[in-house]
Amino acid sequence: MTVVGEVQTFRGSVAIADLGTTLIHEHVFVGDAELALNFPHPEWDEPTLVEEAVAGLERLWDLGVRTVVDLTVPGLGRDVSLVAGVAARTRVNLLASTGYYTADVLPPFFHANGPGLLVDGPDPLVEFFIRDIEEGISGTGVRAAMLKVVTDRPGMTPDVERIMAAAAVAHQHTGVPITTHTHAPSQNGREQLAFFTRRGVAPERLIIGHCGDSEDLGYLRELMDAGATIGMDRFGMEHVLPDDRRVKTVLELMRLGYAEKMVLSQDAAFFSRVTPPSWRSQHAPNWHMENIPRRIVPQLLAAGVTEQDLHQLLVLNPARLLTPASQSSPEDR
Ligand SMILES: [Zn+2]
Repeated sequence: MTVVGEVQTFRGSVAIADLGTTLIHEHVFVGDAELALNFPHPEWDEPTLVEEAVAGLERLWDLGVRTVVDLTVPGLGRDVSLVAGVAARTRVNLLASTGYYTADVLPPFFHANGPGLLVDGPDPLVEFFIRDIEEGISGTGVRAAMLKVVTDRPGMTPDVERIMAAAAVAHQHTGVPITTHTHAPSQNGREQLAFFTRRGVAPERLIIGHCGDSEDLGYLRELMDAGATIGMDRFGMEHVLPDDRRVKTVLELMRLGYAEKMVLSQDAAFFSRVTPPSWRSQHAPNWHMENIPRRIVPQLLAAGVTEQDLHQLLVLNPARLLTPASQSSPEDR
């Protein structure tokens, strides 16, 4: 059972009060286990990348960052044993997550296993998510602290809806927050919020992710006015939207009084097979985990944001969201 007031990390539980400055949407390593076996990427050099991740997290500690949430869920090549080896060697708290990353379809296993399917039974996604949160991931004992789901350009496909329904059940059962990936031009955070609200998830327990890709204040305010927190979580992804425009949106929303409803992060990675380090260094040089402490925080301060505001965005909001809600009884499952 989750203890209220503590959050699970790769190294066991940590008091919420000790989370400190938190980057709530990052990735240590994004890969694909099956591709790695059959079509290895030339830039994936595990021992070197592990050293780079440890060194990078230690630099973050020196910059004041205390906690990084790894939102690499299955579908993005989650490898908890590998990341545990990184977590053991850094002072930064690393948090694991569960859920499933797909914009459209699940693997064939899920099309044959589940309610009303060939191998009939309860939805394995529900068992999977709850076990990750309550017992630990795949025998490692590392327990997930967040749920993550995705809608992108294809919208709410049947498999995406199934994942989201399973996440809602796992959330009700465990109290861990749900964070999302959205496709900002589709404004599908609205659809996610409506779906989860119908399933009894309090908007206050939701982070609608990748909202920083949007500059539509009406859309963003609608999500926050309904109770959700928005992820201004892609600083450095200047190939999607330049940082000065991301900063401008945050500043406008701060002036409008939304400091309690935003979290800042970068969606960066020490390695991603999707956009490997050689591509990132050429096309998105600011897309790394030090971008917020080194470039974005000074810009916000220069524009009049106070240290107290920064504490709200980077410490208090993540701590509030990561605090597991009180447990539901097993019969709600
Ligand atoms: Zn991400």
